[in-house]
Amino acid sequence: MDFDLNEEQTLLQKTVRDFAERELAPHSRLWDEQQEFPRSVFEKLGALGLMGVVWPVEYGGSGLSTLDYAVVMEELARVDAGVALSLAAHNSLCSGHIFLAGSEEQKQRFLVPLARGEKVGCWGLTETGAGSDAGGTQTTAVRQGDEWVLNGAKNFITNAGIADVAVVMAVTDKSRRKRGISAFIVERGTPGFRPGRKEDKLGVRCSDTRELLFDNCRIPVENMLGAPGEGFIDTLRILDRGRIGIAAFSLGIAQAAFEAALGYAKERRQFGHAIAEFQAMQWKIADMAVKVDAARLLTWRAAALRDAGRDHTVESSMAKLYASESAVEVALDAVQIFGGYGYTKEFPVERFLRDSKLGTIGEGTSEIQRLVIARGLLGLKGMVR
Ligand SMILES: Cc1cc2nc3c(=O)[nH]c(=O)nc-3n(C[C@H](O)[C@H](O)[C@H](O)COP(=O)(O)OP(=O)(O)OC[C@H]3O[C@@H](n4cnc5c(N)ncnc54)[C@H](O)[C@@H]3O)c2cc1C
Repeated sequence: MDFDLNEEQTLLQKTVRDFAERELAPHSRLWDEQQEFPRSVFEKLGALGLMGVVWPVEYGGSGLSTLDYAVVMEELARVDAGVALSLAAHNSLCSGHIFLAGSEEQKQRFLVPLARGEKVGCWGLTETGAGSDAGGTQTTAVRQGDEWVLNGAKNFITNAGIADVAVVMAVTDKSRRKRGISAFIVERGTPGFRPGRKEDKLGVRCSDTRELLFDNCRIPVENMLGAPGEGFIDTLRILDRGRIGIAAFSLGIAQAAFEAALGYAKERRQFGHAIAEFQAMQWKIADMAVKVDAARLLTWRAAALRDAGRDHTVESSMAKLYASESAVEVALDAVQIFGGYGYTKEFPVERFLRDSKLGTIGEGTSEIQRLVIARGLLGLKGMVR
């Protein structure tokens, strides 16, 4: 058992940290205020090889491990959680689905430009009436000759307004319920397909979250992704990796909040002392450090299990559940340590608090993670997203 990153991983961590502090940190507050996604950042992330971290080199990726991916996500989220979330949707969800279920031709046509950062991807599972219960998907795909005709709407889709490629789930056989949902690749500009209303969000505000609307959208039959009726099943596999990414995302926010609070506690003086000298502040700092460390260990364990090719569904959910709930607690403590200043936009801790909450909701809420964990431990069958 080795708790340290190796030499290459340490270099990767430093490279991404330097990039984030140089290219993201100076703009994060403005991007958050304006809810503006910095499209040019994706080009720079592509140049660094971060738009396809884990995909093999022959598919335009960097051929790195899931643990490397967790390191990248932590470092980006430590500085700008909105950018990190956009990268997660692009990498582990959209590209992940194509890598898992795509034909060789689909991989060459769609995965390669996504992994190189030439194109941006989004992934549409959620609908207004099908969130945690994603098996209740209502969007339909009906085959007509050499085409599939899509109708319906997806909701809360990260990167929806900027994506060139969308992977979406739609019902192809209603009688088979969850086993009647299939996945499709839809390209930007396809008639009958457009992004809808942009959400005005609490946090991760620079990430672009919108509806995806389908109105008699016709796509060629070869754009079905994976076997008919396997879309939802593949979704569960994709979320196993995705949740490691969201755990690392949450960890990055918690790390940032912890660092900010530690620095401030040493500087801020009241009653003639640094507030770090007060036991109440010390206990908060100790609890925050324990949560950050435990979140990192759970995240890295889930990543290491995946890299070893072992089962990791329960461990991914454990990591996501713990890291995301802890990130909210740590960010809340950071605001408290900053006192009134923590409640203002002068310091980034209020943003960390807002951003952290997404981790407990996206890619399955904390309640759904508990269901996944309990069902895994109890050996219960049943498909829960
Ligand atoms: C910023 C953002 C980005 C997102 N990006 C994407 C994306 O890129 N692609 C995508 O497909 N989706 C995306 N989502 C959607 C996200 O995955 C869903 O919001 C999430 O799964 C919850 O679904 P819901 O919002 O409909 O909540 P609901 O399912 O309506 O849940 C409401 C509450 O009920 C609880 N609940 C529901 N069912 C149960 C149960 N069985 N037992 C106990 N409690 C339960 C939930 O935990 C929650 O507290 C995004 C969401 C946000 C906010």
